[in-house]
Amino acid sequence: MLAERLPGLLPALTAKESLEVTAVHSVAGTLPQEQPLVTRPPYCAPHHSATMAALIGGGTGLPRPGAVSVAHHGVLFLDEAAECSGKVMDAMRQPLESGHVVVARANGMMRMPARFLLVLAANPCPCGRHGMRGVDCECRPSSVRRYRARLSGPLMDRIDLRVTVQPLARSELAALYGSAESTATVAARVLAARERAAARLADTPWTTNNEVPGHALRTRWPLASGALVQAEEDMDRGLLTARGLDRVLRVAWTVADLAGRDRPAAADVRCALEMRTGIRRGIPEARNDQGGSGHDRSRYVGSSFQRDGHQGGAG
Ligand SMILES: [Zn+2]
Repeated sequence: MLAERLPGLLPALTAKESLEVTAVHSVAGTLPQEQPLVTRPPYCAPHHSATMAALIGGGTGLPRPGAVSVAHHGVLFLDEAAECSGKVMDAMRQPLESGHVVVARANGMMRMPARFLLVLAANPCPCGRHGMRGVDCECRPSSVRRYRARLSGPLMDRIDLRVTVQPLARSELAALYGSAESTATVAARVLAARERAAARLADTPWTTNNEVPGHALRTRWPLASGALVQAEEDMDRGLLTARGLDRVLRVAWTVADLAGRDRPAAADVRCALEMRTGIRRGIPEARNDQGGSGHDRSRYVGSSFQRDGHQGGAG
């Protein structure tokens, strides 16, 4: 439910993005007849039993774009991600890094664009109740560990925001109806953050924080002294990889852009670290506790912002 709202928070596609997305959907046969030009970020939510061809692309006969390409410049949502085949999940690492997929055929290769914002949702354990308020989990610790390990490793290193979502009581849900922000309000904030980043990056080849290579990010836009202390401590303790540090930096810039700050303060880096590692850093609770459906079970939600991704969605 939260993932479905995400495309609505993202800015409209630029003319160039619009043409790319329309071309992919035309080849995939998913272009709506009444809408010859796709102008909004697409949303694609394949089932967790999706095959390699359905997710990555290919198939028999004429190769077809997979979900990673259909979600180009939009959102790819995988529910019950821990149930997906490990092979299929690992195959997503290539498009996550490069923004495209290459499908090899007997008579040649086909390259398709695949820059998407990846959202994964998974239960915390096989019974779905581990860590939930007021209910007991029936799973053995070893099976909880095994279940979570299905999502660990190199793929998870590319996931920037990891959020535990508690189911809401009816009274909490009712309270939210009165105070919740509309999609339009949040979308306006995301657009302002995107414009702020684009203005800062005006004389570079990039327009979003997420496109900026790690080296440029670290050297061209230095943070205030001391802002990275906690991130460096995390690296020393083995909680953060070098790739992870770059990704934390990108998220910290987006947090600062959303708040209208010129550059990330220590609290913005802490916010990014908290969302990546799940370890509390003294950030006010309300900031990470937005939304959620009363009908959803406790979820372990992750999202990955690619090098051309829609980082502004991190609000
Ligand atoms: Zn359980």
